[in-house]
Amino acid sequence: MTKSVVIIGAGLGGLSTALRLSYKGYKVTVVEKQPTPGGRLNILKQDGFTFDIGPSFFSMGYEFKELFESIGEPIPFELNELDPLYTVNIAGSDRVFKIYKDLAKLAEEFRGLEDDFEAKAKKYLLGAKEIFHDTEYRIIKKNFNSILHFLASMATVPVKHLPKMFRTFWQELERHFDSEEVKIIFSLVAFFLGATPFNTPSVYNLLNYTELQHDGYWNVKGGMYKIVEGILGLLDKKGVQIKLNTEIVRVEQSNGSVKTVISSTGERFDADLFVVNADAAWFRGKFLSRAKYTPEKLDKLEWTLAPFTIYLGVKGKINGIQHHNYFLGNNFRAYADTIFRSSVAPEKPYYYVNVASKSNPESAPEGCENLFILCPVPDLRVKPDWSDADKLVDEILEDLGQRVGYDIKNNILTKVVYTPNEWEKMFNLYRGSGLGLAHGLNQIGAFRPSNKDEKLNNLYYVGASTTPGTGLPIVVIGSKLITERIENEHSAV
Ligand SMILES: Cc1cc2nc3c(=O)[nH]c(=O)nc-3n(C[C@H](O)[C@H](O)[C@H](O)COP(=O)(O)OP(=O)(O)OC[C@H]3O[C@@H](n4cnc5c(N)ncnc54)[C@H](O)[C@@H]3O)c2cc1C
Repeated sequence: MTKSVVIIGAGLGGLSTALRLSYKGYKVTVVEKQPTPGGRLNILKQDGFTFDIGPSFFSMGYEFKELFESIGEPIPFELNELDPLYTVNIAGSDRVFKIYKDLAKLAEEFRGLEDDFEAKAKKYLLGAKEIFHDTEYRIIKKNFNSILHFLASMATVPVKHLPKMFRTFWQELERHFDSEEVKIIFSLVAFFLGATPFNTPSVYNLLNYTELQHDGYWNVKGGMYKIVEGILGLLDKKGVQIKLNTEIVRVEQSNGSVKTVISSTGERFDADLFVVNADAAWFRGKFLSRAKYTPEKLDKLEWTLAPFTIYLGVKGKINGIQHHNYFLGNNFRAYADTIFRSSVAPEKPYYYVNVASKSNPESAPEGCENLFILCPVPDLRVKPDWSDADKLVDEILEDLGQRVGYDIKNNILTKVVYTPNEWEKMFNLYRGSGLGLAHGLNQIGAFRPSNKDEKLNNLYYVGASTTPGTGLPIVVIGSKLITERIENEHSAV
């Protein structure tokens, strides 16, 4: 008989797993607490404006191609490569740095700041390239059954990379570049991992290779939510049922298996197999009472920063800004040192602005712009009270208006703000952490919550806080790994 699977959560992890499993013949049902599928990859519509609420671009676009190739379907949305990748504004500098993949063009951006930039960048990126390709299949795209298995795989990574484990991301940049601006810009990716360049091991400079040389950055024509809509169309074809507004609050188990999961309204979902797309660490603590994941122990783990996000519909066209932009202050080191630990909102915040209407005109009424502003802030362990949210909004809008030369504050047509409290409530993100568990060396591979439950033989996990980790392409890789496990352990019929 065909095996049935219930997937708890319709984030990208849950949806891409549903896609792979349904095409392999499993009978799949997805249950999602929110009224719309997509999880953090979601959409907000208000007053004629459409916003992507979370992810706005991604690296390793070929992972999406792999997902659809694996099920024999054409990719149901159009990928756009970003060029330039993004711009960076540093307070006090009158330059706006445009970050190009083309190193000769990028060298022009750093003219007068970094001599021989192109040659130095090539050398730096060669090291990053080697570590990416030496770990891609040994560490990232691999299931591990034990710590020993993981360590054995680590041992196959060429020893020449070993010194990078003992240097920080910043120290590696210092070995190659003199200019503060180059070092700051190249180190921004470290924050995605849940750490700062000053405490992240330099092995992660492989991320500079993925953004600057390997596959660059991509977004989707018509907005990021087209990814979700494309997947939903294919799931519909396969008869996958998606139950929205359904939050699972109880797990019934017997004889080492999950039998049923139960929603807050008492609806029961039985299946042969279960996949959890909710946070893999939090779920184990909350619903399986695992001693390793009590709130006290979860609080001791390292989590990525929380998002503070503003969605603005603005009257008029803003010329001083591009599609993807970072706005940084001039105290990078001090800011990085305090941002994870400060219990007050940042005074001179660093933030990212995405103006989707620059390349997707349908997302805003004619003559208007839609702005998505993301300011990474400490998670709710450190700053639980966001009653002062308006102050941070005000500071960001004042600063942004000055830096792009446009009176944004007096031209707002619509505004929505999500503090870490909203992010936590919407998607059950632990303490509001935006990208889930961090990626220090003690929280990757077999040291990360596994994608296979330790005790229950028909329970699996997919998404940001299990292996391999967070970010859209990585979660898609996660769906491939979990599908391989499920197929090996419980064939579809
Ligand atoms: C503001 C922001 C910006 C980001 N920007 C980028 C970016 O530009 N590029 C990039 O690659 N990544 C980005 N990320 C990270 C990326 O969004 C995540 O890594 C990815 O979307 C995680 O997908 P997921 O399936 O693991 O989790 P989620 O998207 O969180 O999906 C999990 C789903 O499970 C549901 N759920 C939870 N508990 C239950 C329950 N008990 N019952 C039923 N349903 C439940 C949730 O509601 C949710 O829909 C960003 C994240 C944020 C927050």
